[in-house]
Amino acid sequence: MTKKFDAVVIGSGALGSSTAFHLMREGQDVVLLDRGQAASETSPRAAGLGLQLQADDIISAIARLGIEKLVAFEEETGVPLACHQSGSIKVARSEADEAQIHGELERARNLGLELDTVTPKEARELAPWFDPSSAREMWYAPGDTYLEPGDVARAYVAAFRAGGGTVREHAEVVGIGSGADGGVTHVELADGSRIEAGSVVIAAGPWSPVVAALADVELPLWAVRHELIITTTIDGVDNTQPAVRIMDAKVYARPCNGGLMFGGYEPDPLTMDLRQTDPGFSTAVMPLDGEPMRRLIDEVSAEFAALTRAEWRELRGGLTTLVPDGHFLVGPLEQMDNLWVISGCNVGGLSTSPALGGHLARWIARGERHLDLKPFDPNRFGDRYHDQELLRRAALATYVDKYSNDEVLIRGT
Ligand SMILES: Cc1cc2nc3c(=O)[nH]c(=O)nc-3n(C[C@H](O)[C@H](O)[C@H](O)COP(=O)(O)OP(=O)(O)OC[C@H]3O[C@@H](n4cnc5c(N)ncnc54)[C@H](O)[C@@H]3O)c2cc1C
Repeated sequence: MTKKFDAVVIGSGALGSSTAFHLMREGQDVVLLDRGQAASETSPRAAGLGLQLQADDIISAIARLGIEKLVAFEEETGVPLACHQSGSIKVARSEADEAQIHGELERARNLGLELDTVTPKEARELAPWFDPSSAREMWYAPGDTYLEPGDVARAYVAAFRAGGGTVREHAEVVGIGSGADGGVTHVELADGSRIEAGSVVIAAGPWSPVVAALADVELPLWAVRHELIITTTIDGVDNTQPAVRIMDAKVYARPCNGGLMFGGYEPDPLTMDLRQTDPGFSTAVMPLDGEPMRRLIDEVSAEFAALTRAEWRELRGGLTTLVPDGHFLVGPLEQMDNLWVISGCNVGGLSTSPALGGHLARWIARGERHLDLKPFDPNRFGDRYHDQELLRRAALATYVDKYSNDEVLIRGT
């Protein structure tokens, strides 16, 4: 008799592997599938930053729990994970951003987050490679983190395997089947085999719309390339120092293996529709472009002088998934019973994956919907974004508005 799993999770990035691990912990028999190697697409290409105070209180709560779980990862899972709780500094150079910093300090106080203003002298001591002369105002959050991004999904996959979970690599899902009652029954793989399951979770990152289309579902998200660079070693840089974000330039920098990692939100990034690409496409062959990074470095050359001189060890890019209101897509899809999605990361799915995967697993296994997931209902737009160009532009706007007050307005809090 063919074995029937409690759940199939499609995609072993941070979001899928966390969901699979937490489902296993809920006592479910789970198979985690990936079309390539486990943890090999967007997740290992991230910056690895964990930021507790986000553009709204709901995502802040998710991010805070995510960071708590990353810091205590080994305690919870038994698998070691190096996470640097070195803090972060946010810098306002304009009057508008200064006002936003003050608003954020008040929000942080209300949320009980440790976040305070920092003087230029203190900022220089915390991050000697940063010149804060141009700053009108700054806050410092000692509890923010960074880590090696690929470690998150790799560690969840290891913990899932160690707990008895089944991982199948090079197992591409090409079909999703349903029964007479309209509920999901199985997935079909490219090799012609099928896997029976009580529920199916789509966690396919930028391929999530491709996989959802197998069940005739249109997901309201768009894939947007996000890039960063990593320099060779720079004297005086080490991982006890905080990350630094400069708001108007929409950039961040943080220590990385003795050098600096620098990334930012370019105004006109490459967008991709993976339903239209060659089936063999993977992030490894996605075109990268160093020019936007050079332009962003020019905008902050006074603050990060060392960056302008340093050699690049790596130009890195991955495909993030943007949603028109900047919120995740997490929950059941109304078109098919027991078909779930966890995607729409808005460039923040790595640090939030422990919390999101945990909440979703509890919902699937016990039927308990956590309040924090309410705004992430994947069906919330109805068919408002059926027009794909409208969707692309709306999704892009949430990317371009990062760090600005408009980001807060888009999310409506
Ligand atoms: C440069 C960059 C910097 C970033 N910085 C941060 C940061 O600092 N902090 C943060 O929190 N987030 C950050 N992010 C965002 C973060 O990387 C993503 O939110 C996160 O990795 C998304 O994980 P995922 O599991 O959804 O996707 P992925 O990691 O892409 O995993 C999806 C998986 O699904 C598999 N798959 C696809 N189709 C199928 C199929 N048909 N069958 C089986 N498997 C399939 C793929 O092979 C892939 O392994 C950054 C992203 C980038 C690109």
